[in-house]
Amino acid sequence: MINYFPTPQKRCGLLAVLSGPSGSGKTTLYQSLLKEDAMIDFSVSCTTRTPRENEKDGRDYYFLSEEDFYHKIAADEFLEYAEVHGKLYGTLRSEVENRLRTGRDVLLDIDVQGAEQVRRRARNTWLHSSVLSIFVLPPDMEQLRHRLSSRGTEDEKNFEKRLENAREELKAWQEYDYLIVNQDLQTAEQDLNAVIRAARLAVPLHLQEKTEIQ
Ligand code: 5GP
Repeated sequence: MINYFPTPQKRCGLLAVLSGPSGSGKTTLYQSLLKEDAMIDFSVSCTTRTPRENEKDGRDYYFLSEEDFYHKIAADEFLEYAEVHGKLYGTLRSEVENRLRTGRDVLLDIDVQGAEQVRRRARNTWLHSSVLSIFVLPPDMEQLRHRLSSRGTEDEKNFEKRLENAREELKAWQEYDYLIVNQDLQTAEQDLNAVIRAARLAVPLHLQEKTEIQ
């Protein structure tokens, strides 16, 4: 006798962890997904970097002082955190865990160190089957350099730093479940949609016990 009919209401949410170097185009990529897919929420991260023009506190990031960031670390409020380009960035547990428990999907845009921490934290917990990690690659180094420089948001020193970090980040792609090469935006968007749609149907997601994450 089947006593469980897997419905989106009953399954745990999917935790889509998206990484890729600055200039890989991942932001544009997931923004269209968020706009069209009502089942997935963006996890707003905390950061100690200063807001860029057009960025809004609470929508793009929670912009915090270092002191406030360290308070949150001490209070174990982060699912993961890392230093990226000389600033602190972190994912709040409150942005993620309850949503997943109630069956909503969550998208994280975090760097490779953060993704590694999420994988480690998920091990041996119900979160394990929720985690879907996706790495976005630019088609080549030239494109990456071009995209980074045409952003116009980075001063020269920061640009070099981001380029250097991008080279490092690129090495981590093998650790991810899926790889999307962002050569053509429309194709990459379809790929991201396809990966997420398929992952929602994964059997382990429907079998999870909603136990505590340590
Ligand atoms: P940006 O300053 O350009 O918004 O982001 C810089 C980098 O920080 C990006 O690679 C982004 O993925 C990463 N990042 C953003 N939020 C978080 C976070 O909460 N945790 C970690 N580990 N990285 C983050």
